[in-house]
Amino acid sequence: MEPIYLDNNATTPVAPEVVEAMLPYLTTKYGNASSVHSFGREAKVALEQAREQIAAFINCEPSELYFTSGGTESDNLAVLGTAYHYRGRRDHLVVGATEHHAVLEPAEYLHCDEGFALDILPVDGDGFASPDTLAELVTDKTALVSVMYANNETGTIQDIAALTKVTRETGVLFHTDAVQATGKITVDVKELGVDLLSLTGHKIYGPKGTGALFIRQGVKITPLFYGGSHEKKRRPGTENVAGAVGLAKALEIAGKRMEQDFATHTELANYFIDEVMKRIPDVHLNGPRTNRIPPTVNLSFTGIEGESILLSLDMEGIACSSGSACTSGATEPSHVLIAMGKKSVDAQGAIRFSMGRSTTKEQLDYVLEKLPPIIQRLREMSPMYGR
Ligand SMILES: *Cc1c(COP(=O)(O)O)cnc(C)c1O
Repeated sequence: MEPIYLDNNATTPVAPEVVEAMLPYLTTKYGNASSVHSFGREAKVALEQAREQIAAFINCEPSELYFTSGGTESDNLAVLGTAYHYRGRRDHLVVGATEHHAVLEPAEYLHCDEGFALDILPVDGDGFASPDTLAELVTDKTALVSVMYANNETGTIQDIAALTKVTRETGVLFHTDAVQATGKITVDVKELGVDLLSLTGHKIYGPKGTGALFIRQGVKITPLFYGGSHEKKRRPGTENVAGAVGLAKALEIAGKRMEQDFATHTELANYFIDEVMKRIPDVHLNGPRTNRIPPTVNLSFTGIEGESILLSLDMEGIACSSGSACTSGATEPSHVLIAMGKKSVDAQGAIRFSMGRSTTKEQLDYVLEKLPPIIQRLREMSPMYGR
């Protein structure tokens, strides 16, 4: 059996058509998009075509789309860029409890080191935030609210449109991290009502180190980089033309496949969840059964460390991820699961299986065969289980 890759929320392979689309811009068409000669113009045309394509994909104007190096940079630029712009006038931020670290950490930095007030928007047991709670937190001093669209650990799809209704009434900016949603469900900045939106290439079969930030016309941000007039001075640096072309191609493919992939992954995920629960006692699904991006299946196996499950699965050629972040050997339970009110022993035993285009029922059957004895063996050794 070939190794089975069930960690597509961490990254995906680059689609062959994406590589093909990028190749000319890595080889013969290598011009700098800022150069005035024919080489430069050729690169500029490709860059702007990619921008138009991606803008159409999320329903914004090309002039509202800024290329970045990926999700982390887009999130940082959104959070820090708006905060720095409003500093002294609006010194308050609200971020979701289950945000990616690329949003949480800049927000915590602004709070701890730059004097911003910070409120964390809580979520319920399935990871959903409430518009009423948001309304209680937002004040006339709030610069930005940042709540992600689809969660990377649990797949929970947040009702962003309901949340932006709250901020729109008060003139507060709203950013959403749509890294996991883009290419898996429809992402339309107008329907969502957001002012800023982050996306990345490598979670949707595009190249690593490519991404974009949507900044609605009229929204002001302070740049984080200085050194050129690229991307209207908001993100200077020689443009990654091949990367932009690859990102556009990856989205084009994702768009064509979206409905079919959603249906296939829903069926596979439901099969997998039901079978795991049939075969193994004391398992919980983290996140909702519906209103989720289907390829993300996060399960807690009570009484064992996720890390030990992960290592045992890896020895059987199965690659997935634990919901917890491992820092210098000590495993911390995931902040996402803790925010959802999971008990520490459940959060610790969480495993994320994230499916992709290559995932088959046969692969899942192999996992379903290997998993029960692993769980049983680890539980027999665990001082946390059944005591
Ligand atoms: C992966 C991820 C990021 C970071 O994106 P990079 O392109 O890897 O920097 C941010 N947010 C979410 C939700 C992610 O899953």
